[in-house]
Amino acid sequence: MNKDLPGVELHTHLEGSVTCERLIALADHYGQPGLLTKCLNKEGTAYVFDGFMDFLELFRKVTLLLKTPQDFHQVALDLGQTLHDDGVGYAEVSLSYGVMLKRGLEPQAIQQALFDAAHQVQETHGVRLRWLPDAVRQWGLDKGWHAFEAAAKAGRSLGVVGFGLGGDEVAGPARDFAPLFADVKAEGLGVSIHAGENPASGPAAADSVRQAVEVCGAERIGHGLGAVADPLIMAMLKARNVFVELCPGSNLCTGVLENLADHPLQDFLSAKIPCGLNPDDRSLFGLDRGGELERARQELGLQEEQIVMMDEWAREAAFGMDETAG
Ligand SMILES: [Zn+2]
Repeated sequence: MNKDLPGVELHTHLEGSVTCERLIALADHYGQPGLLTKCLNKEGTAYVFDGFMDFLELFRKVTLLLKTPQDFHQVALDLGQTLHDDGVGYAEVSLSYGVMLKRGLEPQAIQQALFDAAHQVQETHGVRLRWLPDAVRQWGLDKGWHAFEAAAKAGRSLGVVGFGLGGDEVAGPARDFAPLFADVKAEGLGVSIHAGENPASGPAAADSVRQAVEVCGAERIGHGLGAVADPLIMAMLKARNVFVELCPGSNLCTGVLENLADHPLQDFLSAKIPCGLNPDDRSLFGLDRGGELERARQELGLQEEQIVMMDEWAREAAFGMDETAG
């Protein structure tokens, strides 16, 4: 890893990294300017949405404009530049194979384009990109298998280091995917699952984290806010050394937290549960690593030695940090 770029980012979505400029260019290229209407502000300089459901709709519209391997390649190059500017030297980037397959796209060709882009980004910026395909949980196990089969076919030789699960935790509980994740592990890929994102779900949010770890063998949890309400789940995360990919700015943007001060970062840190800060959907939310760290310093009491510790945890929790290819 480039020592000048210490940041390790383990929770960032490629589709959420499409810059406003790139979205405008794609809409122009495909003759679909109407898609921009409710996505961007008047100036075309920021994404707009109102609440979690509206955010999901925005995410869907952005994916409608990613049609070819070249589109994905370009977005990955943009992300490489952004990460470099943000001091990130290594990132594992999620991308929804579930959505690709639903749109009739070919994940293998797209993954090859992303692998090529990662090579170019490393050459140009010294930033290493690795990939975490994921399935959409509310679309069920069969669709999940299709996404995983495509990910396994692409494999580590194209920079795929893990497999994940995103989407609606209520409509698609992690336990439904137990056999799939047994195969993910057998394939030698890491497991990272979004779980416990909305603490308002109460015990269901904690149980969602439990299912992801105990039933699916998740080594990393995305968000994990629901765990804090249940000491047993927190103890399990600690005992199993599960890394929690915290995304405080994202939680504010989607409205699952009202105030940053409500974010349980210090609960995880004081419990010595490995965790780190991530922007989640950096372009859609207008977030970056530098800003996340600064806000956490100011509003969550984050100390410099805690940042060093989080970076160390993130390096240990990365699925592809030791690989040199690409
Ligand atoms: Zn996410």
